[in-house]
Amino acid sequence: MVKRIRNIVIIGGGTAGWIIAGLLAARHPDRSPEGIGITLIESPDTPTIGVGEGTWPTIRKTLSRIGIKEVDFLSACEASFKQGSRFDGWFDGSELDSYHHPFELPVGRNANELIQAWQSFAPEKSFAEALCVQAAPGHEGIAPKQRSMPDYAGALNYAYHLDAVKLGALLRDHVVNKLGVKHILDHVTEIVGSKDEDIEAVKTRNHSEIKGDLFIDCTGHKSVLLGEHYGVDFIDQSHVLFNDRAIVTQVPTGEQDPIVSQTISTAHEAGWIWDIGLQKRRGIGCVYASKYISDERAEEITREYIKSNDLPMRRLKFSSGFREHSWHKNCLAIGLSAGFLEPLEASAIVLVELSAEMLSDNLPVTRQGMDLEAVKFNKLFRYRWARIVDFLKLHYVLSQRTGPYWVDNRKPETIPDRLMQYLETWKYRPPSQSDFEHASEVFPASSYHFIVYGMGMPAVKHPTLKPTLQEAMKKQMQTVIRKQKSFAAGLPTNRALLAGLPKPSK
Ligand SMILES: Cc1cc2nc3c(=O)[nH]c(=O)nc-3n(C[C@H](O)[C@H](O)[C@H](O)COP(=O)(O)OP(=O)(O)OC[C@H]3O[C@@H](n4cnc5c(N)ncnc54)[C@H](O)[C@@H]3O)c2cc1C
Repeated sequence: MVKRIRNIVIIGGGTAGWIIAGLLAARHPDRSPEGIGITLIESPDTPTIGVGEGTWPTIRKTLSRIGIKEVDFLSACEASFKQGSRFDGWFDGSELDSYHHPFELPVGRNANELIQAWQSFAPEKSFAEALCVQAAPGHEGIAPKQRSMPDYAGALNYAYHLDAVKLGALLRDHVVNKLGVKHILDHVTEIVGSKDEDIEAVKTRNHSEIKGDLFIDCTGHKSVLLGEHYGVDFIDQSHVLFNDRAIVTQVPTGEQDPIVSQTISTAHEAGWIWDIGLQKRRGIGCVYASKYISDERAEEITREYIKSNDLPMRRLKFSSGFREHSWHKNCLAIGLSAGFLEPLEASAIVLVELSAEMLSDNLPVTRQGMDLEAVKFNKLFRYRWARIVDFLKLHYVLSQRTGPYWVDNRKPETIPDRLMQYLETWKYRPPSQSDFEHASEVFPASSYHFIVYGMGMPAVKHPTLKPTLQEAMKKQMQTVIRKQKSFAAGLPTNRALLAGLPKPSK
């Protein structure tokens, strides 16, 4: 019997739940009996994680697809512009130890040509500064766009820093009031259906059984459906990525204080600190490994960093790892319920967006089509999780910092095989897009270039490259310098642009 997918039930009202609700509802807008009903159930007792302030440029497309205006988003979420990350102290911890991972790609796509040009014409500059328009002195506090530019368009590629709790509230209002998603505030207490079969319905404390054809588990670390009900294995990655705790705090800022355009990640003795500038505060988080330092020591490190003994701090625990697969029977887990890897490159929300996009683009019409989609989805996302583990670990393995945490991070038995092979290969040539399996990698070869050369890996210059190519690259590098100067001079500061935003539309 053909079973149409008519009712989708999302459980969880954190960033993941509302993003998937928004993308699904915007893509499938018919709420009539012939269309698709979407219900989001959110527990009033279990708070959302309340962090997740750094995003990827994909978030612009996501918000635009959901139908939110950029000005409304910036104002409601007290957001600011993010143009990449800056890593301080990761190589050896010395004063000048700093490099960028910007969002703009380097000029030129061929890695051999890039390295040749960098080494021949500007070896005194960092890789990013020599080849990327976004990583230049004077760019720290500038906005990526002019006020007159259309929504979600910029002169430079950008994402946002945002208040995660406010993003949830904005998405909820929009998705419920404009896109017709039904919102139920209740706690799911029971899953109806055997563990070997599809979920028929969920039971809640105060509502009757809520039936569905497809259930989306966005219940955060609890993973109520995929983990607790179906028992899908969690593949722990703590032997590779050691961090398992965070201490978070907020530092108020003044109306005139500059807002930095990068997430600043500063390494410390057993982890790192994020520093994220929003409109009225900086979000600070000290990420650390409990095997190497105590909670008290982590708090001390955080207080030294923010130079305050008074601000309240919140402690969070997490495990780095992911579920063996995310789509099981008629249940798909998205967000923390599917897995989490430490937030060094803000890879969690982007995975939520990619999952939500894939589901809403390829939503099967009938139950019969679901298993085929599940196979494809699981294969791709298992690959993505593993590549993100590689990429995050890369930040640690090239460090020359001392101390047990950093030394252990470089031990071969903690480095995934694939990353080991990459590191060996890249001794003889630069990272290339053909090292990776997909055209749409979460972190493409250029991201690897920024990290490996930012961390001082020797660049292998190809001796036989055609001289005409060198000339062309030289011209491109001159264009980079010209553009860096004109952006620094011509773009407003983050603060000025955000202060002058028009009032949000109703
Ligand atoms: C320290 C830290 C820093 C991070 N920083 C970043 C970052 O900079 N960038 C980034 O991309 N990501 C970051 N993340 C990850 C990011 O916070 C999450 O991916 C994102 O917020 C999505 O969370 P979620 O919606 O899956 O879960 P949650 O926010 O935990 O939401 C879970 C939801 O499920 C509901 N729920 C739970 N149980 C039930 C039940 N039985 N019945 C009904 N409802 C239920 C809860 O009420 C809640 O609404 C960070 C995470 C951590 C831990």
